Amino acid sequence: MVAIFLLILLLRTLLMQAVNIILMPKLGTRIWCKYFCPQGLLIGLISRIGRFALVKDETLCIRCGICNQHCSMSIDITSGPAVNRSGECVGCGVCVEVCPQKALSMTTGTVSGVEKSDKVGV
Ligand code: SF4
Ligand code: SF4
Repeated sequence: MVAIFLLILLLRTLLMQAVNIILMPKLGTRIWCKYFCPQGLLIGLISRIGRFALVKDETLCIRCGICNQHCSMSIDITSGPAVNRSGECVGCGVCVEVCPQKALSMTTGTVSGVEKSDKVGV
């Protein structure tokens, strides 16, 4: 039983790496996570109805694009909505760290003001 489990794990890992290597030139990094991972699909669906959001203060954002350059999930934060509930966001916080304007923050609560008009994910 353990051998079968390990074999499945090995095959899955090999498939993951093959998909990433073959499609990376066309689709960028983390292809398996973004397009094929069933776990990611489930998390993405949950995140769309969940409370987690990346919040951008439009009054501080200067649209420099630095957040986009550092996002490993290729989410368009710069042009995206002020309240971003993208199912692809893994919540790493890198964009929040690199923003020179401190315009980004993450929340698990309600977002007043911008929420109603800007709820769409990327
Ligand atoms: S890094 Fe900050 S200031 Fe620059 S585009 Fe992103 S949110 Fe706006
Ligand atoms: S928290 Fe991470 S994955 Fe989410 S938008 Fe920011 S850099 Fe991208």
